[in-house]
Amino acid sequence: MLYKRIAELYDKISSTTKRLEKIDTISKFLEDLSEKDKEVMYLLLGSIYADYDESKIGISEQLVIKAISKTTGENKERIIHEWKKVGDLGQVAQNLTQNKKQSNLFGLKILTAGKVLESLRKLPLLEGEGTVEKKITIITELLTSASSIEAKYIVRTLIGDLRIGIQESTIRESLAKAFFPEIQKEASVKIQEALDRSNDVALIFEIAKRRKIKDLEDVSLEVGKAIKVMLAQKALNIEDGFEKVGKPAAIEYKYDGFRLLIHKSPEGKITLYTRRLENVTKQFPEAVEYVQKYVTGKSFILDSEAIGFDKKTKRYTQFQHISQRIKRKYDIEKVQQELPIEINVFDILYYNGKSFIGEPFQKRTAQVRKIIKETPYKIVPAKQIITDSLEKAEKFYKKALEDNQEGVMMKSLDSKYQPGSRVGFMLKVKPSQKDFDLVITGAEYGKGKRSGWLTSFTLSCRDEETGKFLEIGKVGTGISEKAESTEGTERTTFEELTELLKPLIIKESGKDIIVKPKIVVAITYQEIQKSPTYSSGFALRFPRVTTLRPDKPVSEINTLQEIEKEVFGK
Ligand code: AMP
Repeated sequence: MLYKRIAELYDKISSTTKRLEKIDTISKFLEDLSEKDKEVMYLLLGSIYADYDESKIGISEQLVIKAISKTTGENKERIIHEWKKVGDLGQVAQNLTQNKKQSNLFGLKILTAGKVLESLRKLPLLEGEGTVEKKITIITELLTSASSIEAKYIVRTLIGDLRIGIQESTIRESLAKAFFPEIQKEASVKIQEALDRSNDVALIFEIAKRRKIKDLEDVSLEVGKAIKVMLAQKALNIEDGFEKVGKPAAIEYKYDGFRLLIHKSPEGKITLYTRRLENVTKQFPEAVEYVQKYVTGKSFILDSEAIGFDKKTKRYTQFQHISQRIKRKYDIEKVQQELPIEINVFDILYYNGKSFIGEPFQKRTAQVRKIIKETPYKIVPAKQIITDSLEKAEKFYKKALEDNQEGVMMKSLDSKYQPGSRVGFMLKVKPSQKDFDLVITGAEYGKGKRSGWLTSFTLSCRDEETGKFLEIGKVGTGISEKAESTEGTERTTFEELTELLKPLIIKESGKDIIVKPKIVVAITYQEIQKSPTYSSGFALRFPRVTTLRPDKPVSEINTLQEIEKEVFGK
């Protein structure tokens, strides 16, 4: 397929803000898309890989600027100037190649989607000496062959910011409309479930194209391929929890750690993923060892929470103490000693060649307990009681809080495991704490001695309906001036946040910057007010950063709808 067709589709999709129109346009495109071009599906979502694939294009804006400069002959400073003015490097590439192409039309070659994918996929494979130059050459070759509209989208894809307003849900609806027009609603649910199990939109397109709903149901989990985790809803208290999940229910500690999905392949290979589908096997060698030693089974997928503990007192610590272990790729042995973890397994999705996600929780949790040799401070099944007694449940909840955990999870005994969904049969109960997970979408440089750092950060929530990020406040507290040296209690510093955000800048004016929504932070606040100042219509009073959440995907931050619920108590 010609890349031009995809670029035109992108343009058409971005020309409307109406979701139904977007779905209509995409579904027509999908009807015509042939199976052999199925990987175009990745491009539609602004990527070049399936979601389960952890490869990243990993190209900085600076490198793209060099390639644009080489292609157009414009100097870098002018490109940077234009970029800061327009706030969209893709648009800059389009403008500049337009000028160039008018004087050099014969440079144009025919670009296919296959060629674009092939070239972009070469980029992360390059390593060693001369890598930067080789990358620039590949990008320059692509841009030289591209028309100006193609150049716009190649650049946007390279820097991971397609900006055409399509989310996975748009694709899901478009697939349902294209291939199951008579049963669109039902198909949409099945497509989403198949997507959540496989994390491969090209595969699901291929299957949907056969127009057999049963084939979607047959899409299974695969050991070694990252899958989206099941998410919990909230209960107001234990009583409310029982009403929603039924009696008796399983009640477990809600550990204050991070989610770890553990895969063991039939060949014995163990892989660990975060809920962000990032492979963190290298960061946690001890976890691999514990799984090898203390879990029986030829192959499996376990769902667990890793928590930190103080190696002297053996008391459990909060998430923020071990958050740095997720990203840390050096001195692993040292941090492993300093910040040990215990794995608390609470679910099983797959065992010895058989999917378990359709089995009732009662059976799954029994299986967890059967295959794990309980080894405290290494790997254990999650602490649990199964009861219909309010009194016993309250007592267990109190004990969880005394043990430094966040609260409890209440789980219905007969429900299945639904990857990727926030379900009403697994509920979290914790003391009413005013906290949200939000994403940073902007920032401001400080003054005086803080002038090199970003010191005030714009926080946004996500609108569930449109997928857009809406501002809800600014935060500058809870962040340290200097890295605190106390073992394991590091707070986020201005320097760290500045370093994380700088590569994400998409627009700069004076001291203010706008960044790609990537960095998730946990925030506490005192109150929420209605406010016309921010696009969400709300403002947080006295927000404070508790910790960075490198493990949480942006798609799982708090939504506008949840915030409205909090304010209006709906
Ligand atoms: P939240 O992040 O507030 O939405 O709470 C849900 C998270 O609690 C899950 O994603 C897990 O990471 C974590 N969690 C801790 N303990 C458990 C447990 N026993 N069962 C399920 N999830 C748990």
